[in-house]
Amino acid sequence: MPEKRISMAYHRQLNAVPVIPAALESPTGFVADMLARPLQELRISLTDRCNFRCVYCMPEESFGKDRVFLPQTSLLTFEEITRIARIFVTHGVQKIRLTGGEPLLRKHIENLIEMLAQLKTPDGRDLELTLTTNGSLLAQKAQSLKNAGLNRVTVSLDSLDDAIFKRMNGVDFPVSDVLHGLEAAHAAGIGPIKVNMVVKEGMNDQEIVPMARHFKGSPFILRFIEYMDVGGSINWKMDEVVPSSEVVRRIAAHMPLEAINSSLTGETAERWRYQDGSGEIGVISSVTQAFCRDCVRARLSTVGVLYTCLFAASGHDLRALMRSGKTDQEISAAVAHLWRLRADRYSELRSATIKDIDRTARKIEMSYIGG
Ligand code: SAM
Ligand code: SF4
Ligand code: SF4
Repeated sequence: MPEKRISMAYHRQLNAVPVIPAALESPTGFVADMLARPLQELRISLTDRCNFRCVYCMPEESFGKDRVFLPQTSLLTFEEITRIARIFVTHGVQKIRLTGGEPLLRKHIENLIEMLAQLKTPDGRDLELTLTTNGSLLAQKAQSLKNAGLNRVTVSLDSLDDAIFKRMNGVDFPVSDVLHGLEAAHAAGIGPIKVNMVVKEGMNDQEIVPMARHFKGSPFILRFIEYMDVGGSINWKMDEVVPSSEVVRRIAAHMPLEAINSSLTGETAERWRYQDGSGEIGVISSVTQAFCRDCVRARLSTVGVLYTCLFAASGHDLRALMRSGKTDQEISAAVAHLWRLRADRYSELRSATIKDIDRTARKIEMSYIGG
């Protein structure tokens, strides 16, 4: 019998149970890490499963039928997710992004959104509640997501050409269904709606200009993401990365662009507007221009492990704290303590010394920790 591949999510010995500080301070709505970065955003992975097999994320060779995913019982419940989110909000989190895997595969996700939508910042404002999806189930779910309280959505789409898109998503999924999902989200009143395109040289880079042209002047903001090294199974190569500067150059050659200055902390995309006033695009230069110094995001895995960096090899097991009966005050103090000790800046270090970093050192896949 072939050996079953075990998801990285099982390598739990890497994850420490956080220490509860002796003095249980009360949250102040602000906590900064060692590099003075405040805690402002929480990304929550709702499932490690996905109905796509994108070549740059969960390629079929590594995520085939023998792949073992997390059992339902190990996932955080909606009550546990909401409890953690509430604690993070008391420390300054203003934005929550639901991701995965494919978050719309999580059953009754609308119930979770309803629960999260009740949370308020310490000064009484609503949270920014958003979700990143491959769009496959969006047409059928857009209205119920909106009704539950979802403000915004980001939809991944790598090409308008069916043959290229099907090759990239690995499951023959057609472009038209994702476009229907986008329209349904717009019709439901969700907004702003962003479209993420991962650009991989030799695979979909010829789609940069057609995608820009298609979404120019539409209600959807297109963002180009540099292809990142997210773990051993994708066999990443630097020469398959199309730098954002090249993306901007190619689009501007057809449709003139000008930079939009943005001073918002935590903004990952560099924004450019069309000179004719017909909207904007964004570029996310995770590889060529690390944005670690503005990184204000924490990530919560499907099983409740907190990661302070997308590339962290180990995390902090908040589920263990919850399930061993710790109080909100104790968990809150542990979270603040962890964030204060945070010094992660993997991409910055990697850009500085790309040849010295051991790729195999990274242990967590993006579909598990959440993009
Ligand atoms: N399944 C959802 C989706 O595809 O939108 C949410 C999870 S996915 C991991 C989140 C985002 O990460 C997507 O926009 C996806 O394109 C991006 N992503 C995945 N692998 C990537 C890689 N190797 N480089 C850059 N972005 C990647
Ligand atoms: Fe699934 Fe999203 Fe990863 Fe594609 S990028 S395999 S849709 S989790
Ligand atoms: Fe943030 Fe880590 Fe990415 Fe740097 S490498 S931007 S610290 S998640």
